[in-house]
Amino acid sequence: MADEEFVVTPYEVRGKVDHERLREQFGAERLTPALLERLRGLAGGELHPLLTRGVYYSHRDLARLLDRHAKGEPFFVYSGRGPSGPLHTSHLVPFELCRWLQEKLGIEMYIQITDDEKFWFRPHLTRAETYRWGIENLTDLLALGFDPKRTHVFFDTRSIGAMYSIAVDVAKRIPYSTVRAVFGFPPSQNIGLVFYTALQTVPAFYPSWVAGRPVNCLIPCGIDQDPHFRVTRDIAEGLGYPKPGLLHSVMLPGLAGDKVMSTTGDTRDNALFLNDPPKEVARKLRKAFTGGRTSVEEQRRLGAVPEVCSVWAQWRSRFAESEAEFETITADCRSGKLLCGDCKANLIERVNGFLAAHEARRPAARELAESVILETAPPRATPTS
Ligand code: SF4
Repeated sequence: MADEEFVVTPYEVRGKVDHERLREQFGAERLTPALLERLRGLAGGELHPLLTRGVYYSHRDLARLLDRHAKGEPFFVYSGRGPSGPLHTSHLVPFELCRWLQEKLGIEMYIQITDDEKFWFRPHLTRAETYRWGIENLTDLLALGFDPKRTHVFFDTRSIGAMYSIAVDVAKRIPYSTVRAVFGFPPSQNIGLVFYTALQTVPAFYPSWVAGRPVNCLIPCGIDQDPHFRVTRDIAEGLGYPKPGLLHSVMLPGLAGDKVMSTTGDTRDNALFLNDPPKEVARKLRKAFTGGRTSVEEQRRLGAVPEVCSVWAQWRSRFAESEAEFETITADCRSGKLLCGDCKANLIERVNGFLAAHEARRPAARELAESVILETAPPRATPTS
């Protein structure tokens, strides 16, 4: 999607994104307080901070999924990761929500690790590298605490035996013109990424395919990924599967404040990576873009602007541990009571505490990884199409 001020596709985000306008242009629905209250009711009276703080703000078909769930037809959640390097804190946003939904609603979780896609997409990466990052990223995701009995992983180059039957059906339904129009591929595009559109659809349909009946799917993702799943939704019912619902998050700013976090190249300073040592975290956060004023005196007098601050974005998306703490940080920032240097020092301590605890959970998660990767699908007597 192109606009005079910003460009958003699944492969590119440029400019200052107006999320509300993007939602309208995509034709998605606003995540209303009434819908959130319904989810709170199903989740035993709680809501995840990513929901209460507005990081998730848009959806497709969530009301239908909640209706069905309340009637005893649970949905499952699906999210994916393209492994091209270490995870950073923004990558955790969909997975944190999925883990919470799994815990609160007792539902199944499907993770797709797209090592094939990243090999096709990034010319400099070898298959050995995307595979290695796939295992590393999966380990980090499992260390968030997913229930191993309810968690299933498609690791594309290992799971193709489980995926291929559905991918074959899907690929026949998607014309090349659709893929080219949705993703803006040039004529020189390798055909791997063209076929990948079919592979990304598989997890949304797999539980229905295995069960032989419709099983609803909810996909939490950044709103930039919506075009991928619009293609999935367009073909779902023609293949006998329910359309997956979507929950869209905003794209969080990187530490430079002006663009989203990235994994590669000279933008490493723009993100907090899960393998950053403590000194690196401190160095990056000390120079992070803020909404502060040019002098202490001015900030005490006028207050700062949290909405434009990359440090506040970190408190908002992950590191404020309670609503009370988040509200205090926000109010004290606005009033000038909190200064940026102190705020950053507090965040450095919080991030490094989280990373140390996360590192300690990784060995058990690495062992778990092998047991949750799907390598073959259950036998089916006949193809469905
Ligand atoms: S006080 Fe904190 S949240 Fe507010 S602008 Fe400064 S760094 Fe950002």
